[in-house]
Amino acid sequence: MDRVYNFSPGPSQLALPVLEKAQKEMLCYGSTGMSVMEMSHRSKMYTDIYDQTVADLKELMAIPEDYEVVFLQGGATQQFSAIPLNLMVNKKADYIDSGNFAHLAAEEAKRYGQVNVVASSREDTYTYIPDVKGIAFTPDADYLHITQNNTIYGTRYVDLPESSAPLVCDASSMILSEEMDVSKYGVIYAGAQKNIGPSGLCVLIVRKDLLGRTMDICPKLLNWQVQVEKGSMYNTPNTWGIYVAGLTFQWLKEQGGVAAMEKINIEKAALLYDFLDNSKLFKATAQPKYRSRMNVTFITGDPDKDAAFVKAAAGAGLANLKGHRSVGGMRASIYNAMPLEGVQKLVAFMKEFEAQNA
Ligand SMILES: *Cc1c(COP(=O)(O)O)cnc(C)c1O
Repeated sequence: MDRVYNFSPGPSQLALPVLEKAQKEMLCYGSTGMSVMEMSHRSKMYTDIYDQTVADLKELMAIPEDYEVVFLQGGATQQFSAIPLNLMVNKKADYIDSGNFAHLAAEEAKRYGQVNVVASSREDTYTYIPDVKGIAFTPDADYLHITQNNTIYGTRYVDLPESSAPLVCDASSMILSEEMDVSKYGVIYAGAQKNIGPSGLCVLIVRKDLLGRTMDICPKLLNWQVQVEKGSMYNTPNTWGIYVAGLTFQWLKEQGGVAAMEKINIEKAALLYDFLDNSKLFKATAQPKYRSRMNVTFITGDPDKDAAFVKAAAGAGLANLKGHRSVGGMRASIYNAMPLEGVQKLVAFMKEFEAQNA
């Protein structure tokens, strides 16, 4: 059975060398005589893997000294709760609503304090990022939350909002795909299953001065300071997930790091959008200025043709192109692990389909 080009939004395609290395080391890691899955998380053999993984992420993202990195469980969604629980001192926070996950994050935070949605594109089905200039931020907000790439709608921030409150960023579907100036953020978090590794894992990057603001009611497992002090090991972490994340980080370093990936990602996205903009059948749905480089959303305008396309593409080894159930149409998720050839093959297939169906 040949591997397909998998355009799934998440869990998504992993780089083949990462899977091959994990396969090679599956039964016996190095000279340990056991699988990574069978190691004590407190053993030296495992803490070496953990330390290297953290060090590689710090290197890849040029994370400054005054930030901590931890690997948490519960995906990005768990952090929708952990963020207010760890940061709401004044019990007030600003949220920009740019998509479904942004909306869910704001809704969850409402359990713990006052949430001000200071800008939103919800009324326009999230086809753009709200203009970040001229937003009236809440003066004593504990933080401002954004979702930098909107996985379902295929939009991304071009400029960051400038609030005086710490910027908290859900980077799930864009982390490591483009350079980020970490010093502009208070917190960056990302579910792993898009650009990093297996699901169930969440990377959290937090500025040290934001630790220790935790509400008394915060469950201990969600307490960032506890997790930082325990090196992500207050309880047994997702040892296998962290190991695979580490393999992805090594692979990224071999590719030339984030700057090199960003270049390829721009090329991949341009190839697809250029085709869409000139197509007689397909049309991109996100406003051009805010188009995502990771999730490319498009339609034919005819749901039957959309369905026929998704089915035919799957038959040609181009899998998971169906759009999110809430919006329909198509979505090609082209994260770091999707090679340029995968996008070229998709565009060639779309041309063929167009010729037969326009
Ligand atoms: C996938 C995704 C999530 C949800 O991640 P889980 O790991 O399933 O909790 C949250 N935010 C964004 C932007 C996502 O793309």
